[in-house]
Amino acid sequence: MRVGIVGAGFVGLTCAYRLAQAGVEVELYEAASHSGGLASGFSLPGWKWPLEQFYHHIFSNDRAIIRLSREVGWPPIFFRPTTSIFFNGRMYPFDSAFHLLRFPQLPLHAKLRMGIVLGFLKLSPFWKPLERIPAHDFLIQTMGVRGYEAIWQPLLVGKFGPWARDVNAAWFWARIHKRTARLGYFRRGFQGLANRLHESIVNNGGGIHLHSPVSAIRKAGAHLALSSTLGTERFDRVIVTTSTPLFLKMVKGLPSRYRSRLGRLRSLDALVVILILKTPVMDGVYWLNVTDQRLPFVGVMEHTNMIDPKYYGGNHIVYLGTYLPPDHRYFLLSKDAVVRLAIQQLKALTRNFDESDIVETRVHRGRGAQPIIPVNYSRLRPTMETPIDHLFLANMSLVYPWDRGTNYAVELGERAYRTLLS
Ligand SMILES: Cc1cc2nc3c(=O)[nH]c(=O)nc-3n(C[C@H](O)[C@H](O)[C@H](O)COP(=O)(O)OP(=O)(O)OC[C@H]3O[C@@H](n4cnc5c(N)ncnc54)[C@H](O)[C@@H]3O)c2cc1C
Repeated sequence: MRVGIVGAGFVGLTCAYRLAQAGVEVELYEAASHSGGLASGFSLPGWKWPLEQFYHHIFSNDRAIIRLSREVGWPPIFFRPTTSIFFNGRMYPFDSAFHLLRFPQLPLHAKLRMGIVLGFLKLSPFWKPLERIPAHDFLIQTMGVRGYEAIWQPLLVGKFGPWARDVNAAWFWARIHKRTARLGYFRRGFQGLANRLHESIVNNGGGIHLHSPVSAIRKAGAHLALSSTLGTERFDRVIVTTSTPLFLKMVKGLPSRYRSRLGRLRSLDALVVILILKTPVMDGVYWLNVTDQRLPFVGVMEHTNMIDPKYYGGNHIVYLGTYLPPDHRYFLLSKDAVVRLAIQQLKALTRNFDESDIVETRVHRGRGAQPIIPVNYSRLRPTMETPIDHLFLANMSLVYPWDRGTNYAVELGERAYRTLLS
């Protein structure tokens, strides 16, 4: 059997690795110059490790990626960095029940109510009934308006923008149920792990074609014809791991009912600014949730408060990130204007930040990075099988109720492998 895979993100890499290991002939096509997809990294002169274009870590219970990374000899390293919240002009530690109780900005009864709800979500395995209710309604009814509006509403709006009220409570359950305070990272970053998988695929006889965007996939008798910049090749099975809009663009001959069904899935793009600085700015905080909705970025992550700056030439790395609809006006701004928004926000967050400490800046856009998970998403979620025989779809829109992430990309890649061979 000959298998073609489109996209060398963690879904494509995992699936190709398993197939190559099983002795199946596999060819992986990637549009970019490197593998790793949304989790890929870049490097600057003098750096020992690449850095993700988008902030990344794993949780200590991300079993699929931990198992795979150990198997290929690239295990994660775990840390216990600090998570805080920016509220009414100040940062407060906010990653345990103790911190919630000590949080001075809410009355005790609101904190107790919130603590009980979060504790219930953490322990309860029953997410299915929650998918029928918007997270907005569920949280107001259970936590009360005060706690919800102070903490969770700004974070939902920051993450889902105009669709914050559509997101279902099962998605919120998954966020709370799954999070761990211990976070993992890889030697040489996620790019290090992607490179290791890449190498393992090639060593097992698989083919990887970088700089090779796929432009069309169509049925050709009993086969599928895949056209890329390298020409047209025939495969027995093809699996597409790109975002759904790209899948719809490249696959020819899909029935219109299926197209319009997939066309109803929505997602947001990520906008991330990276400031590379001479000095640290966030007083040891790794992850800062920003609840002030006047500020453009919902999260600020000082990567080097988890990973030693020595890997980045002694520089300190700060990410500012938000999620926006693809037609948002920020995507029309120049790079300098977006960086200016980030600088203004960092000044509002901390007095430690001095603009003259900036060594370099980067702006990254992740298209289709955050699927929107509305009420009753199980009815909307696409299947891996498509109406075209032997053509499969495996992207983040299939991941549910969990939030998208590299662990689920690995899980999906392994599921795709099993489905292809079944
Ligand atoms: C801001 C941000 C923060 C994140 N933080 C975390 C985190 O902390 N932890 C975590 O685990 N996950 C995180 N994620 C999510 C994680 O990066 C993704 O869920 C995961 O990498 C998705 O992998 P994938 O293989 O499904 O897709 P992708 O990584 O998107 O891979 C798809 C690949 O297809 C390629 N491609 C596109 N078009 C074509 C074409 N025509 N031909 C060939 N190839 C094509 C792309 O270049 C890409 O390499 C974050 C994502 C973002 C955007």
